[in-house]
Amino acid sequence: FYYMLYIVPTPIGNLQDITLRALETLKTADAVLCEDTRRTQILLSHFGISKPLYRYNENDDRSVLRCLEALKSGKKCALVSDCGTPCISDPGWKLVKEAVANGIKVSSLPGPSAVACALAGAGITGGAFTFLGFLPRKPGKAAKLLSAAYSQNHPVVLYESPYRVVKMLELVAKTLGGETPVILARELSKVYEEWIRGTAVSLAEELSKKSKVQGEFVMILDRPAQTEEATDEPDSYF
Ligand code: SAM
Repeated sequence: FYYMLYIVPTPIGNLQDITLRALETLKTADAVLCEDTRRTQILLSHFGISKPLYRYNENDDRSVLRCLEALKSGKKCALVSDCGTPCISDPGWKLVKEAVANGIKVSSLPGPSAVACALAGAGITGGAFTFLGFLPRKPGKAAKLLSAAYSQNHPVVLYESPYRVVKMLELVAKTLGGETPVILARELSKVYEEWIRGTAVSLAEELSKKSKVQGEFVMILDRPAQTEEATDEPDSYF
């Protein structure tokens, strides 16, 4: 009993975060399926690994088929993305779906992912949260998704690029209210890791004063502080 397709998370900013099992899997794979061959080549070279690389692009059906054919021909493949866990706001799910449909055994390795890393460090209640990944570019669509998710009374987690983070904070303020508590986890696991906390309005102001916003962000929209009486959560499950 062994697997043919391994989903292998890679570091989100610190090469030391690769797991021993990820390295072992990459070393023993017949081929590595990746988003960007150049980036994956750099990662593999760093760890002294040399493997045939297959570029994988979800919007290119031929690339999905090519990877599927490699699997069907008996090649043991490791699927990686540019950073973090494949399939989480990254390519991969189509291939995994096809692999499952074709009876190819899939194993998913645990490892770095920005959403889990940010949530753990945010210091907010664990349990339920809504992960939206990247919101659509159209403000109308984005606002709709935001309000629907936030109305479920759980923290909402978003991925955002540095170029759009101020715009997103403004949209949050407009859609959910300026006082919405926000936690920005910036450059996780890198030298300039930073946690910026405030409200949608205060953070939009703070960041728009900077000449250039840099780095990668996870944005967490927390629930406003509630008095104990106001919470509608049960005291216990029993
Ligand atoms: N598959 C990845 C994962 O498992 O987290 C996510 C890939 S997605 C294309 C990239 C986004 O993840 C970035 O725009 C940012 O929102 C978030 N991200 C990735 N690395 C990060 C880091 N070191 N610090 C903060 N956010 C990060």
